[in-house]
Amino acid sequence: MNIHEYQGKEVLKQYGVVVPNGKVAYTVEEAVEAAQSLGSAVTVVKAQIHAGGRGKAGGVKVAKNLDEVRTYASEILGKVLVTHQTGPEGKEVKRLLIEEGCDIRKEYYVGVVVDRATGRVVMMASEEGGTEIEEVAAATPEKIFKEVIDPAIGLQMYQARKLAYSINIPNELVNKAAQFMVALYSAFVDKDCSIAEINPLVVTGDGAVIALDAKLNFDSNALFRHKDIQALRDLDEEDEKEIEASKFDLSYIALDGNIGCMVNGAGLAMATMDIIKYYGGDPANFLDVGGGATTEKVTEAFKIILSDPKVEGIFVNIFGGIMQCDIIANGVVEAAKQVGLNQPLVVRLEGTNVELGKQILSESGLNIVSADSMADGAQKIVSLVQ
Ligand code: ADP
Ligand code: MG
Repeated sequence: MNIHEYQGKEVLKQYGVVVPNGKVAYTVEEAVEAAQSLGSAVTVVKAQIHAGGRGKAGGVKVAKNLDEVRTYASEILGKVLVTHQTGPEGKEVKRLLIEEGCDIRKEYYVGVVVDRATGRVVMMASEEGGTEIEEVAAATPEKIFKEVIDPAIGLQMYQARKLAYSINIPNELVNKAAQFMVALYSAFVDKDCSIAEINPLVVTGDGAVIALDAKLNFDSNALFRHKDIQALRDLDEEDEKEIEASKFDLSYIALDGNIGCMVNGAGLAMATMDIIKYYGGDPANFLDVGGGATTEKVTEAFKIILSDPKVEGIFVNIFGGIMQCDIIANGVVEAAKQVGLNQPLVVRLEGTNVELGKQILSESGLNIVSADSMADGAQKIVSLVQ
């Protein structure tokens, strides 16, 4: 799960990570009031969306007085920001962070991630702050420094100092920067983050080490033990179909293609998307209905697929193990009855209760193309939507 920058900064503050004073605002009036109460010489108006690259897209503005705060706030609120992370459709700005302006001496990068190669948490740092770290990694990988963290003892001060020296933090501020990193690491672990990225971390004119941006992602499998983080979820930032799916505990991810997929098992769902691509098609979604799904759950899953206007055909690919083919068949029939089905539907069923499943489908009166194998099904749906 993702949260906004202003929320991330509140979380980090609890762990001693230094952040600028700031307030969230939902309206222009609130923005001006927030700036007034901050009382700083310079105020920064920042669009709050779940995507980076806001600065370049005009979503971060420095205001020198309250009139400018008003102007920028009215410009940015309601604007659809298109950044390299939003996709071409962009994201509408509904919240602002009004923050005190900070006298930046230099910008750095610090990020904490779970590294699959080492199976450990890794802290990365770079002198190239403010720019995209992916670009730094591609062009000048030698400018990214990493420390692998032993989970038994956590990030050690000597590791943090090493990182701080490597990225040329001014000598007199190395200890402050190291403390910052240790605080960031403890927030990461304590809140079960999957990413904690500070880009930029800045050193200021008066010698402070501050997080000027904050991106926190949380491991959804651990969210049940963080009610405070769950409360930060902003449904405006999520795909409606994904929200609906999460209500029914379905693993659904919306994609750009036109072939809806209903599959059981994450691995088979991935393979199904691959094989659709292989035969020249484009999946509209990833969907794993899971093992123990009920007819109701399958019905909802099918309805979610059909609610996507881009869907021009559906491929149901089920290998019935724990999941029984008749339950899938009943779900498909039920959903088609409830919402109507005008698109071609290819069904490949295999495994437990397959005969019963096929019988339910063939007696349903629905126009179903049955497939003998996964490859056969993928080819059929791809040619039907073309
Ligand atoms: P994004 O990464 O989405 O572009 P950032 O929060 O990193 O957004 O802001 C972009 C740039 O704006 C920063 O690199 C920094 O130079 C400037 N900036 C952001 N917040 C402040 C602030 N409080 N004071 C001064 N400059 C800021
Ligand atoms: Mg940033």
